[in-house]
Amino acid sequence: MVALFGKLGLGAIHLPYAHTVRPTIPREEPRVTALWWVRRDIRLADNPALIEAQAAGTAAAVFAWTPAIDRWPGRRQAYLAKTLWSLRESTGGALGVRLGTEVDVVRAAAAECGAETVWAAQEYSPVGMRTQEAVREALAADGRELKLIGSPYAVAPGRVTKADGSEYKVFTPFSRAWRAHGWRAPAVGADGLSLQPLASDVNLDQQAAYGDTRDPLGFPPRFGEEAALRALEEFIGEDGENSPLNRYAETRDLPAMDATSRLSIALAHGEIHPRTVLSHTSRHSSTHARIFESQIAWRDFHADVLWRHPRAQRESLTDVLPEDAWSDSSEEAFTAWKSGHTGFPLVDAGMRELQATGVMHNRVRMVVASFLVKDLRVPWQVGADFFREKLLDYDHAQNQLNWQWVAGTGRDAAPFFRIFNPTRQAEKFDPDRSYIERWVPEIDTPGYAQPIVDHAMEREITLAAYKRRSGT
Ligand SMILES: Cc1cc2nc3c(=O)[nH]c(=O)nc-3n(C[C@H](O)[C@H](O)[C@H](O)COP(=O)(O)OP(=O)(O)OC[C@H]3O[C@@H](n4cnc5c(N)ncnc54)[C@H](O)[C@@H]3O)c2cc1C
Repeated sequence: MVALFGKLGLGAIHLPYAHTVRPTIPREEPRVTALWWVRRDIRLADNPALIEAQAAGTAAAVFAWTPAIDRWPGRRQAYLAKTLWSLRESTGGALGVRLGTEVDVVRAAAAECGAETVWAAQEYSPVGMRTQEAVREALAADGRELKLIGSPYAVAPGRVTKADGSEYKVFTPFSRAWRAHGWRAPAVGADGLSLQPLASDVNLDQQAAYGDTRDPLGFPPRFGEEAALRALEEFIGEDGENSPLNRYAETRDLPAMDATSRLSIALAHGEIHPRTVLSHTSRHSSTHARIFESQIAWRDFHADVLWRHPRAQRESLTDVLPEDAWSDSSEEAFTAWKSGHTGFPLVDAGMRELQATGVMHNRVRMVVASFLVKDLRVPWQVGADFFREKLLDYDHAQNQLNWQWVAGTGRDAAPFFRIFNPTRQAEKFDPDRSYIERWVPEIDTPGYAQPIVDHAMEREITLAAYKRRSGT
């Protein structure tokens, strides 16, 4: 690991505990003073909660495999199991992964090892905030304390405000203020990792295999902190020359190319912190690096919007279509959309990629989402729920707010009247059809689906409904 980063000049990526070094597990187990409650921060490097737990004296670590996780689709469970397995390896087997709600698991683990304080990263989503409050109360009832430090974001929600303290509603000024606010350097703790072992009652191998048998992972074969750091390194490239980062502005919209960082799964699980990513891109002076960083700003913007407006997880922030505009003959069309048989090649390629791999290129996500909402007139929430079932990088704030962006109902959303033409989008972003042909090999055969709708006609119907609603 150390050699890997030295070779590519990324020596400053801080990995405080080399993965090959087993932590010392003393024979006589001393009293644990702090517990690290692992949440969406499944990593050792740049991890304030772990650093604080260790600084308090002797620490242990626990992750709660909740009943809610048990209801996740198989492939997401499989990915989580794999990355937890990887973290447990890095802790020399010390990480305890236990079945139960966060309240039950954290409370019992803290009592079992006698930890006075529990350290965890702060969450800002409605469910994350409810959970941390419930854990805080349960611990307090036992005379223990929950301390929250850090977040999954470069700049935590609520920090970027206008001079009068109010929120930015438009992304561009938000991103300017976000940049001016800046972010901390990656967190660095004392050398060495020493965690007291906690027994696990989740069989991670079995959980990982569950995904393979019922809902294959397909992509990605890579998981865990080390793989995330390597993906960052490959994206930035040696000295930044001729690397994906240095072509990002020109190639990021081309789904046929492996031109983006593919870090979203790792960011969603906290296998890498955005601060670590930014600490490396900020050394590059190119426009490409700035444009890439603004994608990380979108991530923080959406988290900020959801934190300020929790109802945005289900409700449109602005209503753009009258109720009666939603199509009631959409069940069949929705089925065609889900399985990639709409007869619109870019839509079908994207949906098949999603079904097969659990990922989809951002440009294609926009096209398929627009098609569902504006051509088929299916409410965005229905599409968002389907993405939640399929995406490996599923992140509540990013998914719901991106759907709202496409639907034209969110903060600083794409204007509703701007309706993607899926055929034009394919010509522009997949001109030689190599992405489409990868996923829709039968495209030139009579077996390929006829278009299920007439785009021009649906566009007119949708625009008319929009005008009816807005009174224009
Ligand atoms: C309908 C729809 C649903 C989406 N659902 C999710 C989701 O559940 N989880 C998720 O992480 N992203 C989601 N996105 C955003 C985006 O598509 C993915 O983050 C991106 O495709 C990931 O690829 P990458 O890591 O190679 O991105 P890169 O282009 O390399 O970007 C770097 C990072 O910036 C962030 N980012 C990039 N684009 C966006 C964006 N539009 N909004 C917020 N953050 C962004 C991601 O963390 C990404 O990893 C969604 C987009 C749409 C249109």
